[in-house]
Amino acid sequence: RHNNLFLRGFMILFFSCITIRLNLCISSIPSSLKTLPLEGHFNFDELNYAARDFGNRYQYHPMAVLQPKSVSDIAATIRHIWRMGPSSQLTVAARGHGHSLHGQSQAHGGVVINMKSITVPEMKVYTGSFPYIDVSGGELWINILRESLRYGLAPRSWTDYLHLTVGGTLSNAGISGQAFRHGPQISNVEQMEIVTGKGEIINCSREQNGELFHSVLGGLGQFGIITRARIILEPAPAMVKWIRVLYTDFTAFTSDQERLISAENTFDFIEGFVMINRTGLLNNWRSSFNPQDPVQASQFKSDGKTLYCLELAKYFNLDETNVVNQEVQNHLSHLSYISSTLFLTEVTYVDFLDRVHVSEVKLRSKGLWDVPHPWLNLFIPKSKIHNFAEEVFGNILRETSNGPVLLYAVNKSKWDNRTSVVIPEEDIFYLVAFLTSAVPSSNGSDGLEHILTQNKRILEYCERAHLGVKQYLPHYTTQEEWQAHFGPQWEVFLQRKSVYDPLAILAPGQRIFHKTI
Ligand code: FAD
Repeated sequence: RHNNLFLRGFMILFFSCITIRLNLCISSIPSSLKTLPLEGHFNFDELNYAARDFGNRYQYHPMAVLQPKSVSDIAATIRHIWRMGPSSQLTVAARGHGHSLHGQSQAHGGVVINMKSITVPEMKVYTGSFPYIDVSGGELWINILRESLRYGLAPRSWTDYLHLTVGGTLSNAGISGQAFRHGPQISNVEQMEIVTGKGEIINCSREQNGELFHSVLGGLGQFGIITRARIILEPAPAMVKWIRVLYTDFTAFTSDQERLISAENTFDFIEGFVMINRTGLLNNWRSSFNPQDPVQASQFKSDGKTLYCLELAKYFNLDETNVVNQEVQNHLSHLSYISSTLFLTEVTYVDFLDRVHVSEVKLRSKGLWDVPHPWLNLFIPKSKIHNFAEEVFGNILRETSNGPVLLYAVNKSKWDNRTSVVIPEEDIFYLVAFLTSAVPSSNGSDGLEHILTQNKRILEYCERAHLGVKQYLPHYTTQEEWQAHFGPQWEVFLQRKSVYDPLAILAPGQRIFHKTI
């Protein structure tokens, strides 16, 4: 009995000592960060914005926010934390524009790096036969568009929304209606400068430090911070013919998409979306589509049916109008949409690319932008898209979808299988994106709980039916789930982590690894 009492006393003393040591360690961290010689600075107050994101559901406060002015500021901070070793528990999250959904750009009790505060290097466009632009990892795509247009050039592959950073989208993939031809944004990068989890600054490309280059692309921020990227450019058109056509038959809708994305000479942008229980084409927040015949569009009645909208764009310059009109007519004549539902508009290239921002402004003015966004993004193999549609649009989501549902096909051949992103096995797969907004404090079908239950039902169905679905912008909470997500790629992912960020300092908000203690 005496021995037991002694052991208990010893254990209490031992753990108290460890706790005191850890607390001392933690309380001395801010002052140790303050001693770093930086061009920028740390904020230890006003941390609320770094604990928020577009998803508006998770809020983890950091201990400090770094406002770097240079790459060396980032490297010095990470190197300092790396040298503290595992006992500091301090982690680091790069925050681009904070448009992730589940706290991925947050670092609970750690350091958030505000990537947008880096001012060097300045954007620089290189013209010639293979034009490109060098940009900082915290640059917004909208600024890259504006800068490259000054030279008559533009990136080839986009996201639907341009107020996102280069580092943020390259950490996932970056996809939109150009991906079928050019691949995702991660297929359109030539070089990067990376700060690893040990604080080393490394330049990489396919040829130089290729393993790091491929690890970081689609790597969910796990292997390094992208401080600079070289993005491929192409000649920019002046104008865009923007077309929407409707289908009631899902098979006709997907067959047309698959044929179009496999053709040589086709549209420049191909997407699609599902309209559940909606009337009027204008009832769609994510774009500023104003058809030339708005009356016809607003009067089109779906009679409560689910409709499928194919969205197409053809780029052109004003001196090519006649030729392009003929080409468009020709392409459209091979499609099987409902013939009375051809809606067309012409807009400038910038207005087309920046289309979602117009809706953002409208939603913000109504207080509907900063609401919870329980989005669900899935990659679905072509052979399973009909099973998926039957169950999800015919059963689970029959009444409403609380936001746009994108559904479009891409070619796997345009994705590089050496990168870290996880995609289905088949040559063609679909992105299906449920871009839902929840009405705060609602208990109805537009409330958060209801939407989360719907998402769960969709995921459970995919699992049960063995559809081979992969999440895009993935979110899991256990390592087993992550392992299942990566499948055979998991071992490579682990190996890369052990080389580039062995203490698991980076991007803790993804919840894949925990810093070892
Ligand atoms: P953040 O949310 O700031 O960061 C995301 C993750 O990347 C975090 O883990 C963060 O730590 C890490 N990270 C950020 N910067 C760096 C860096 N420099 N180096 C390393 N890691 C970094 N995606 C598409 O593919 N296609 C779309 O069409 C599309 N449309 C969208 C529309 C809206 C309205 C929104 C809100 C999102 C959309 N997305 C789309 C998703 C978007 O691409 C991702 O959420 C992206 O991560 C957001 O970029 P961000 O700069 O806000 O990143």
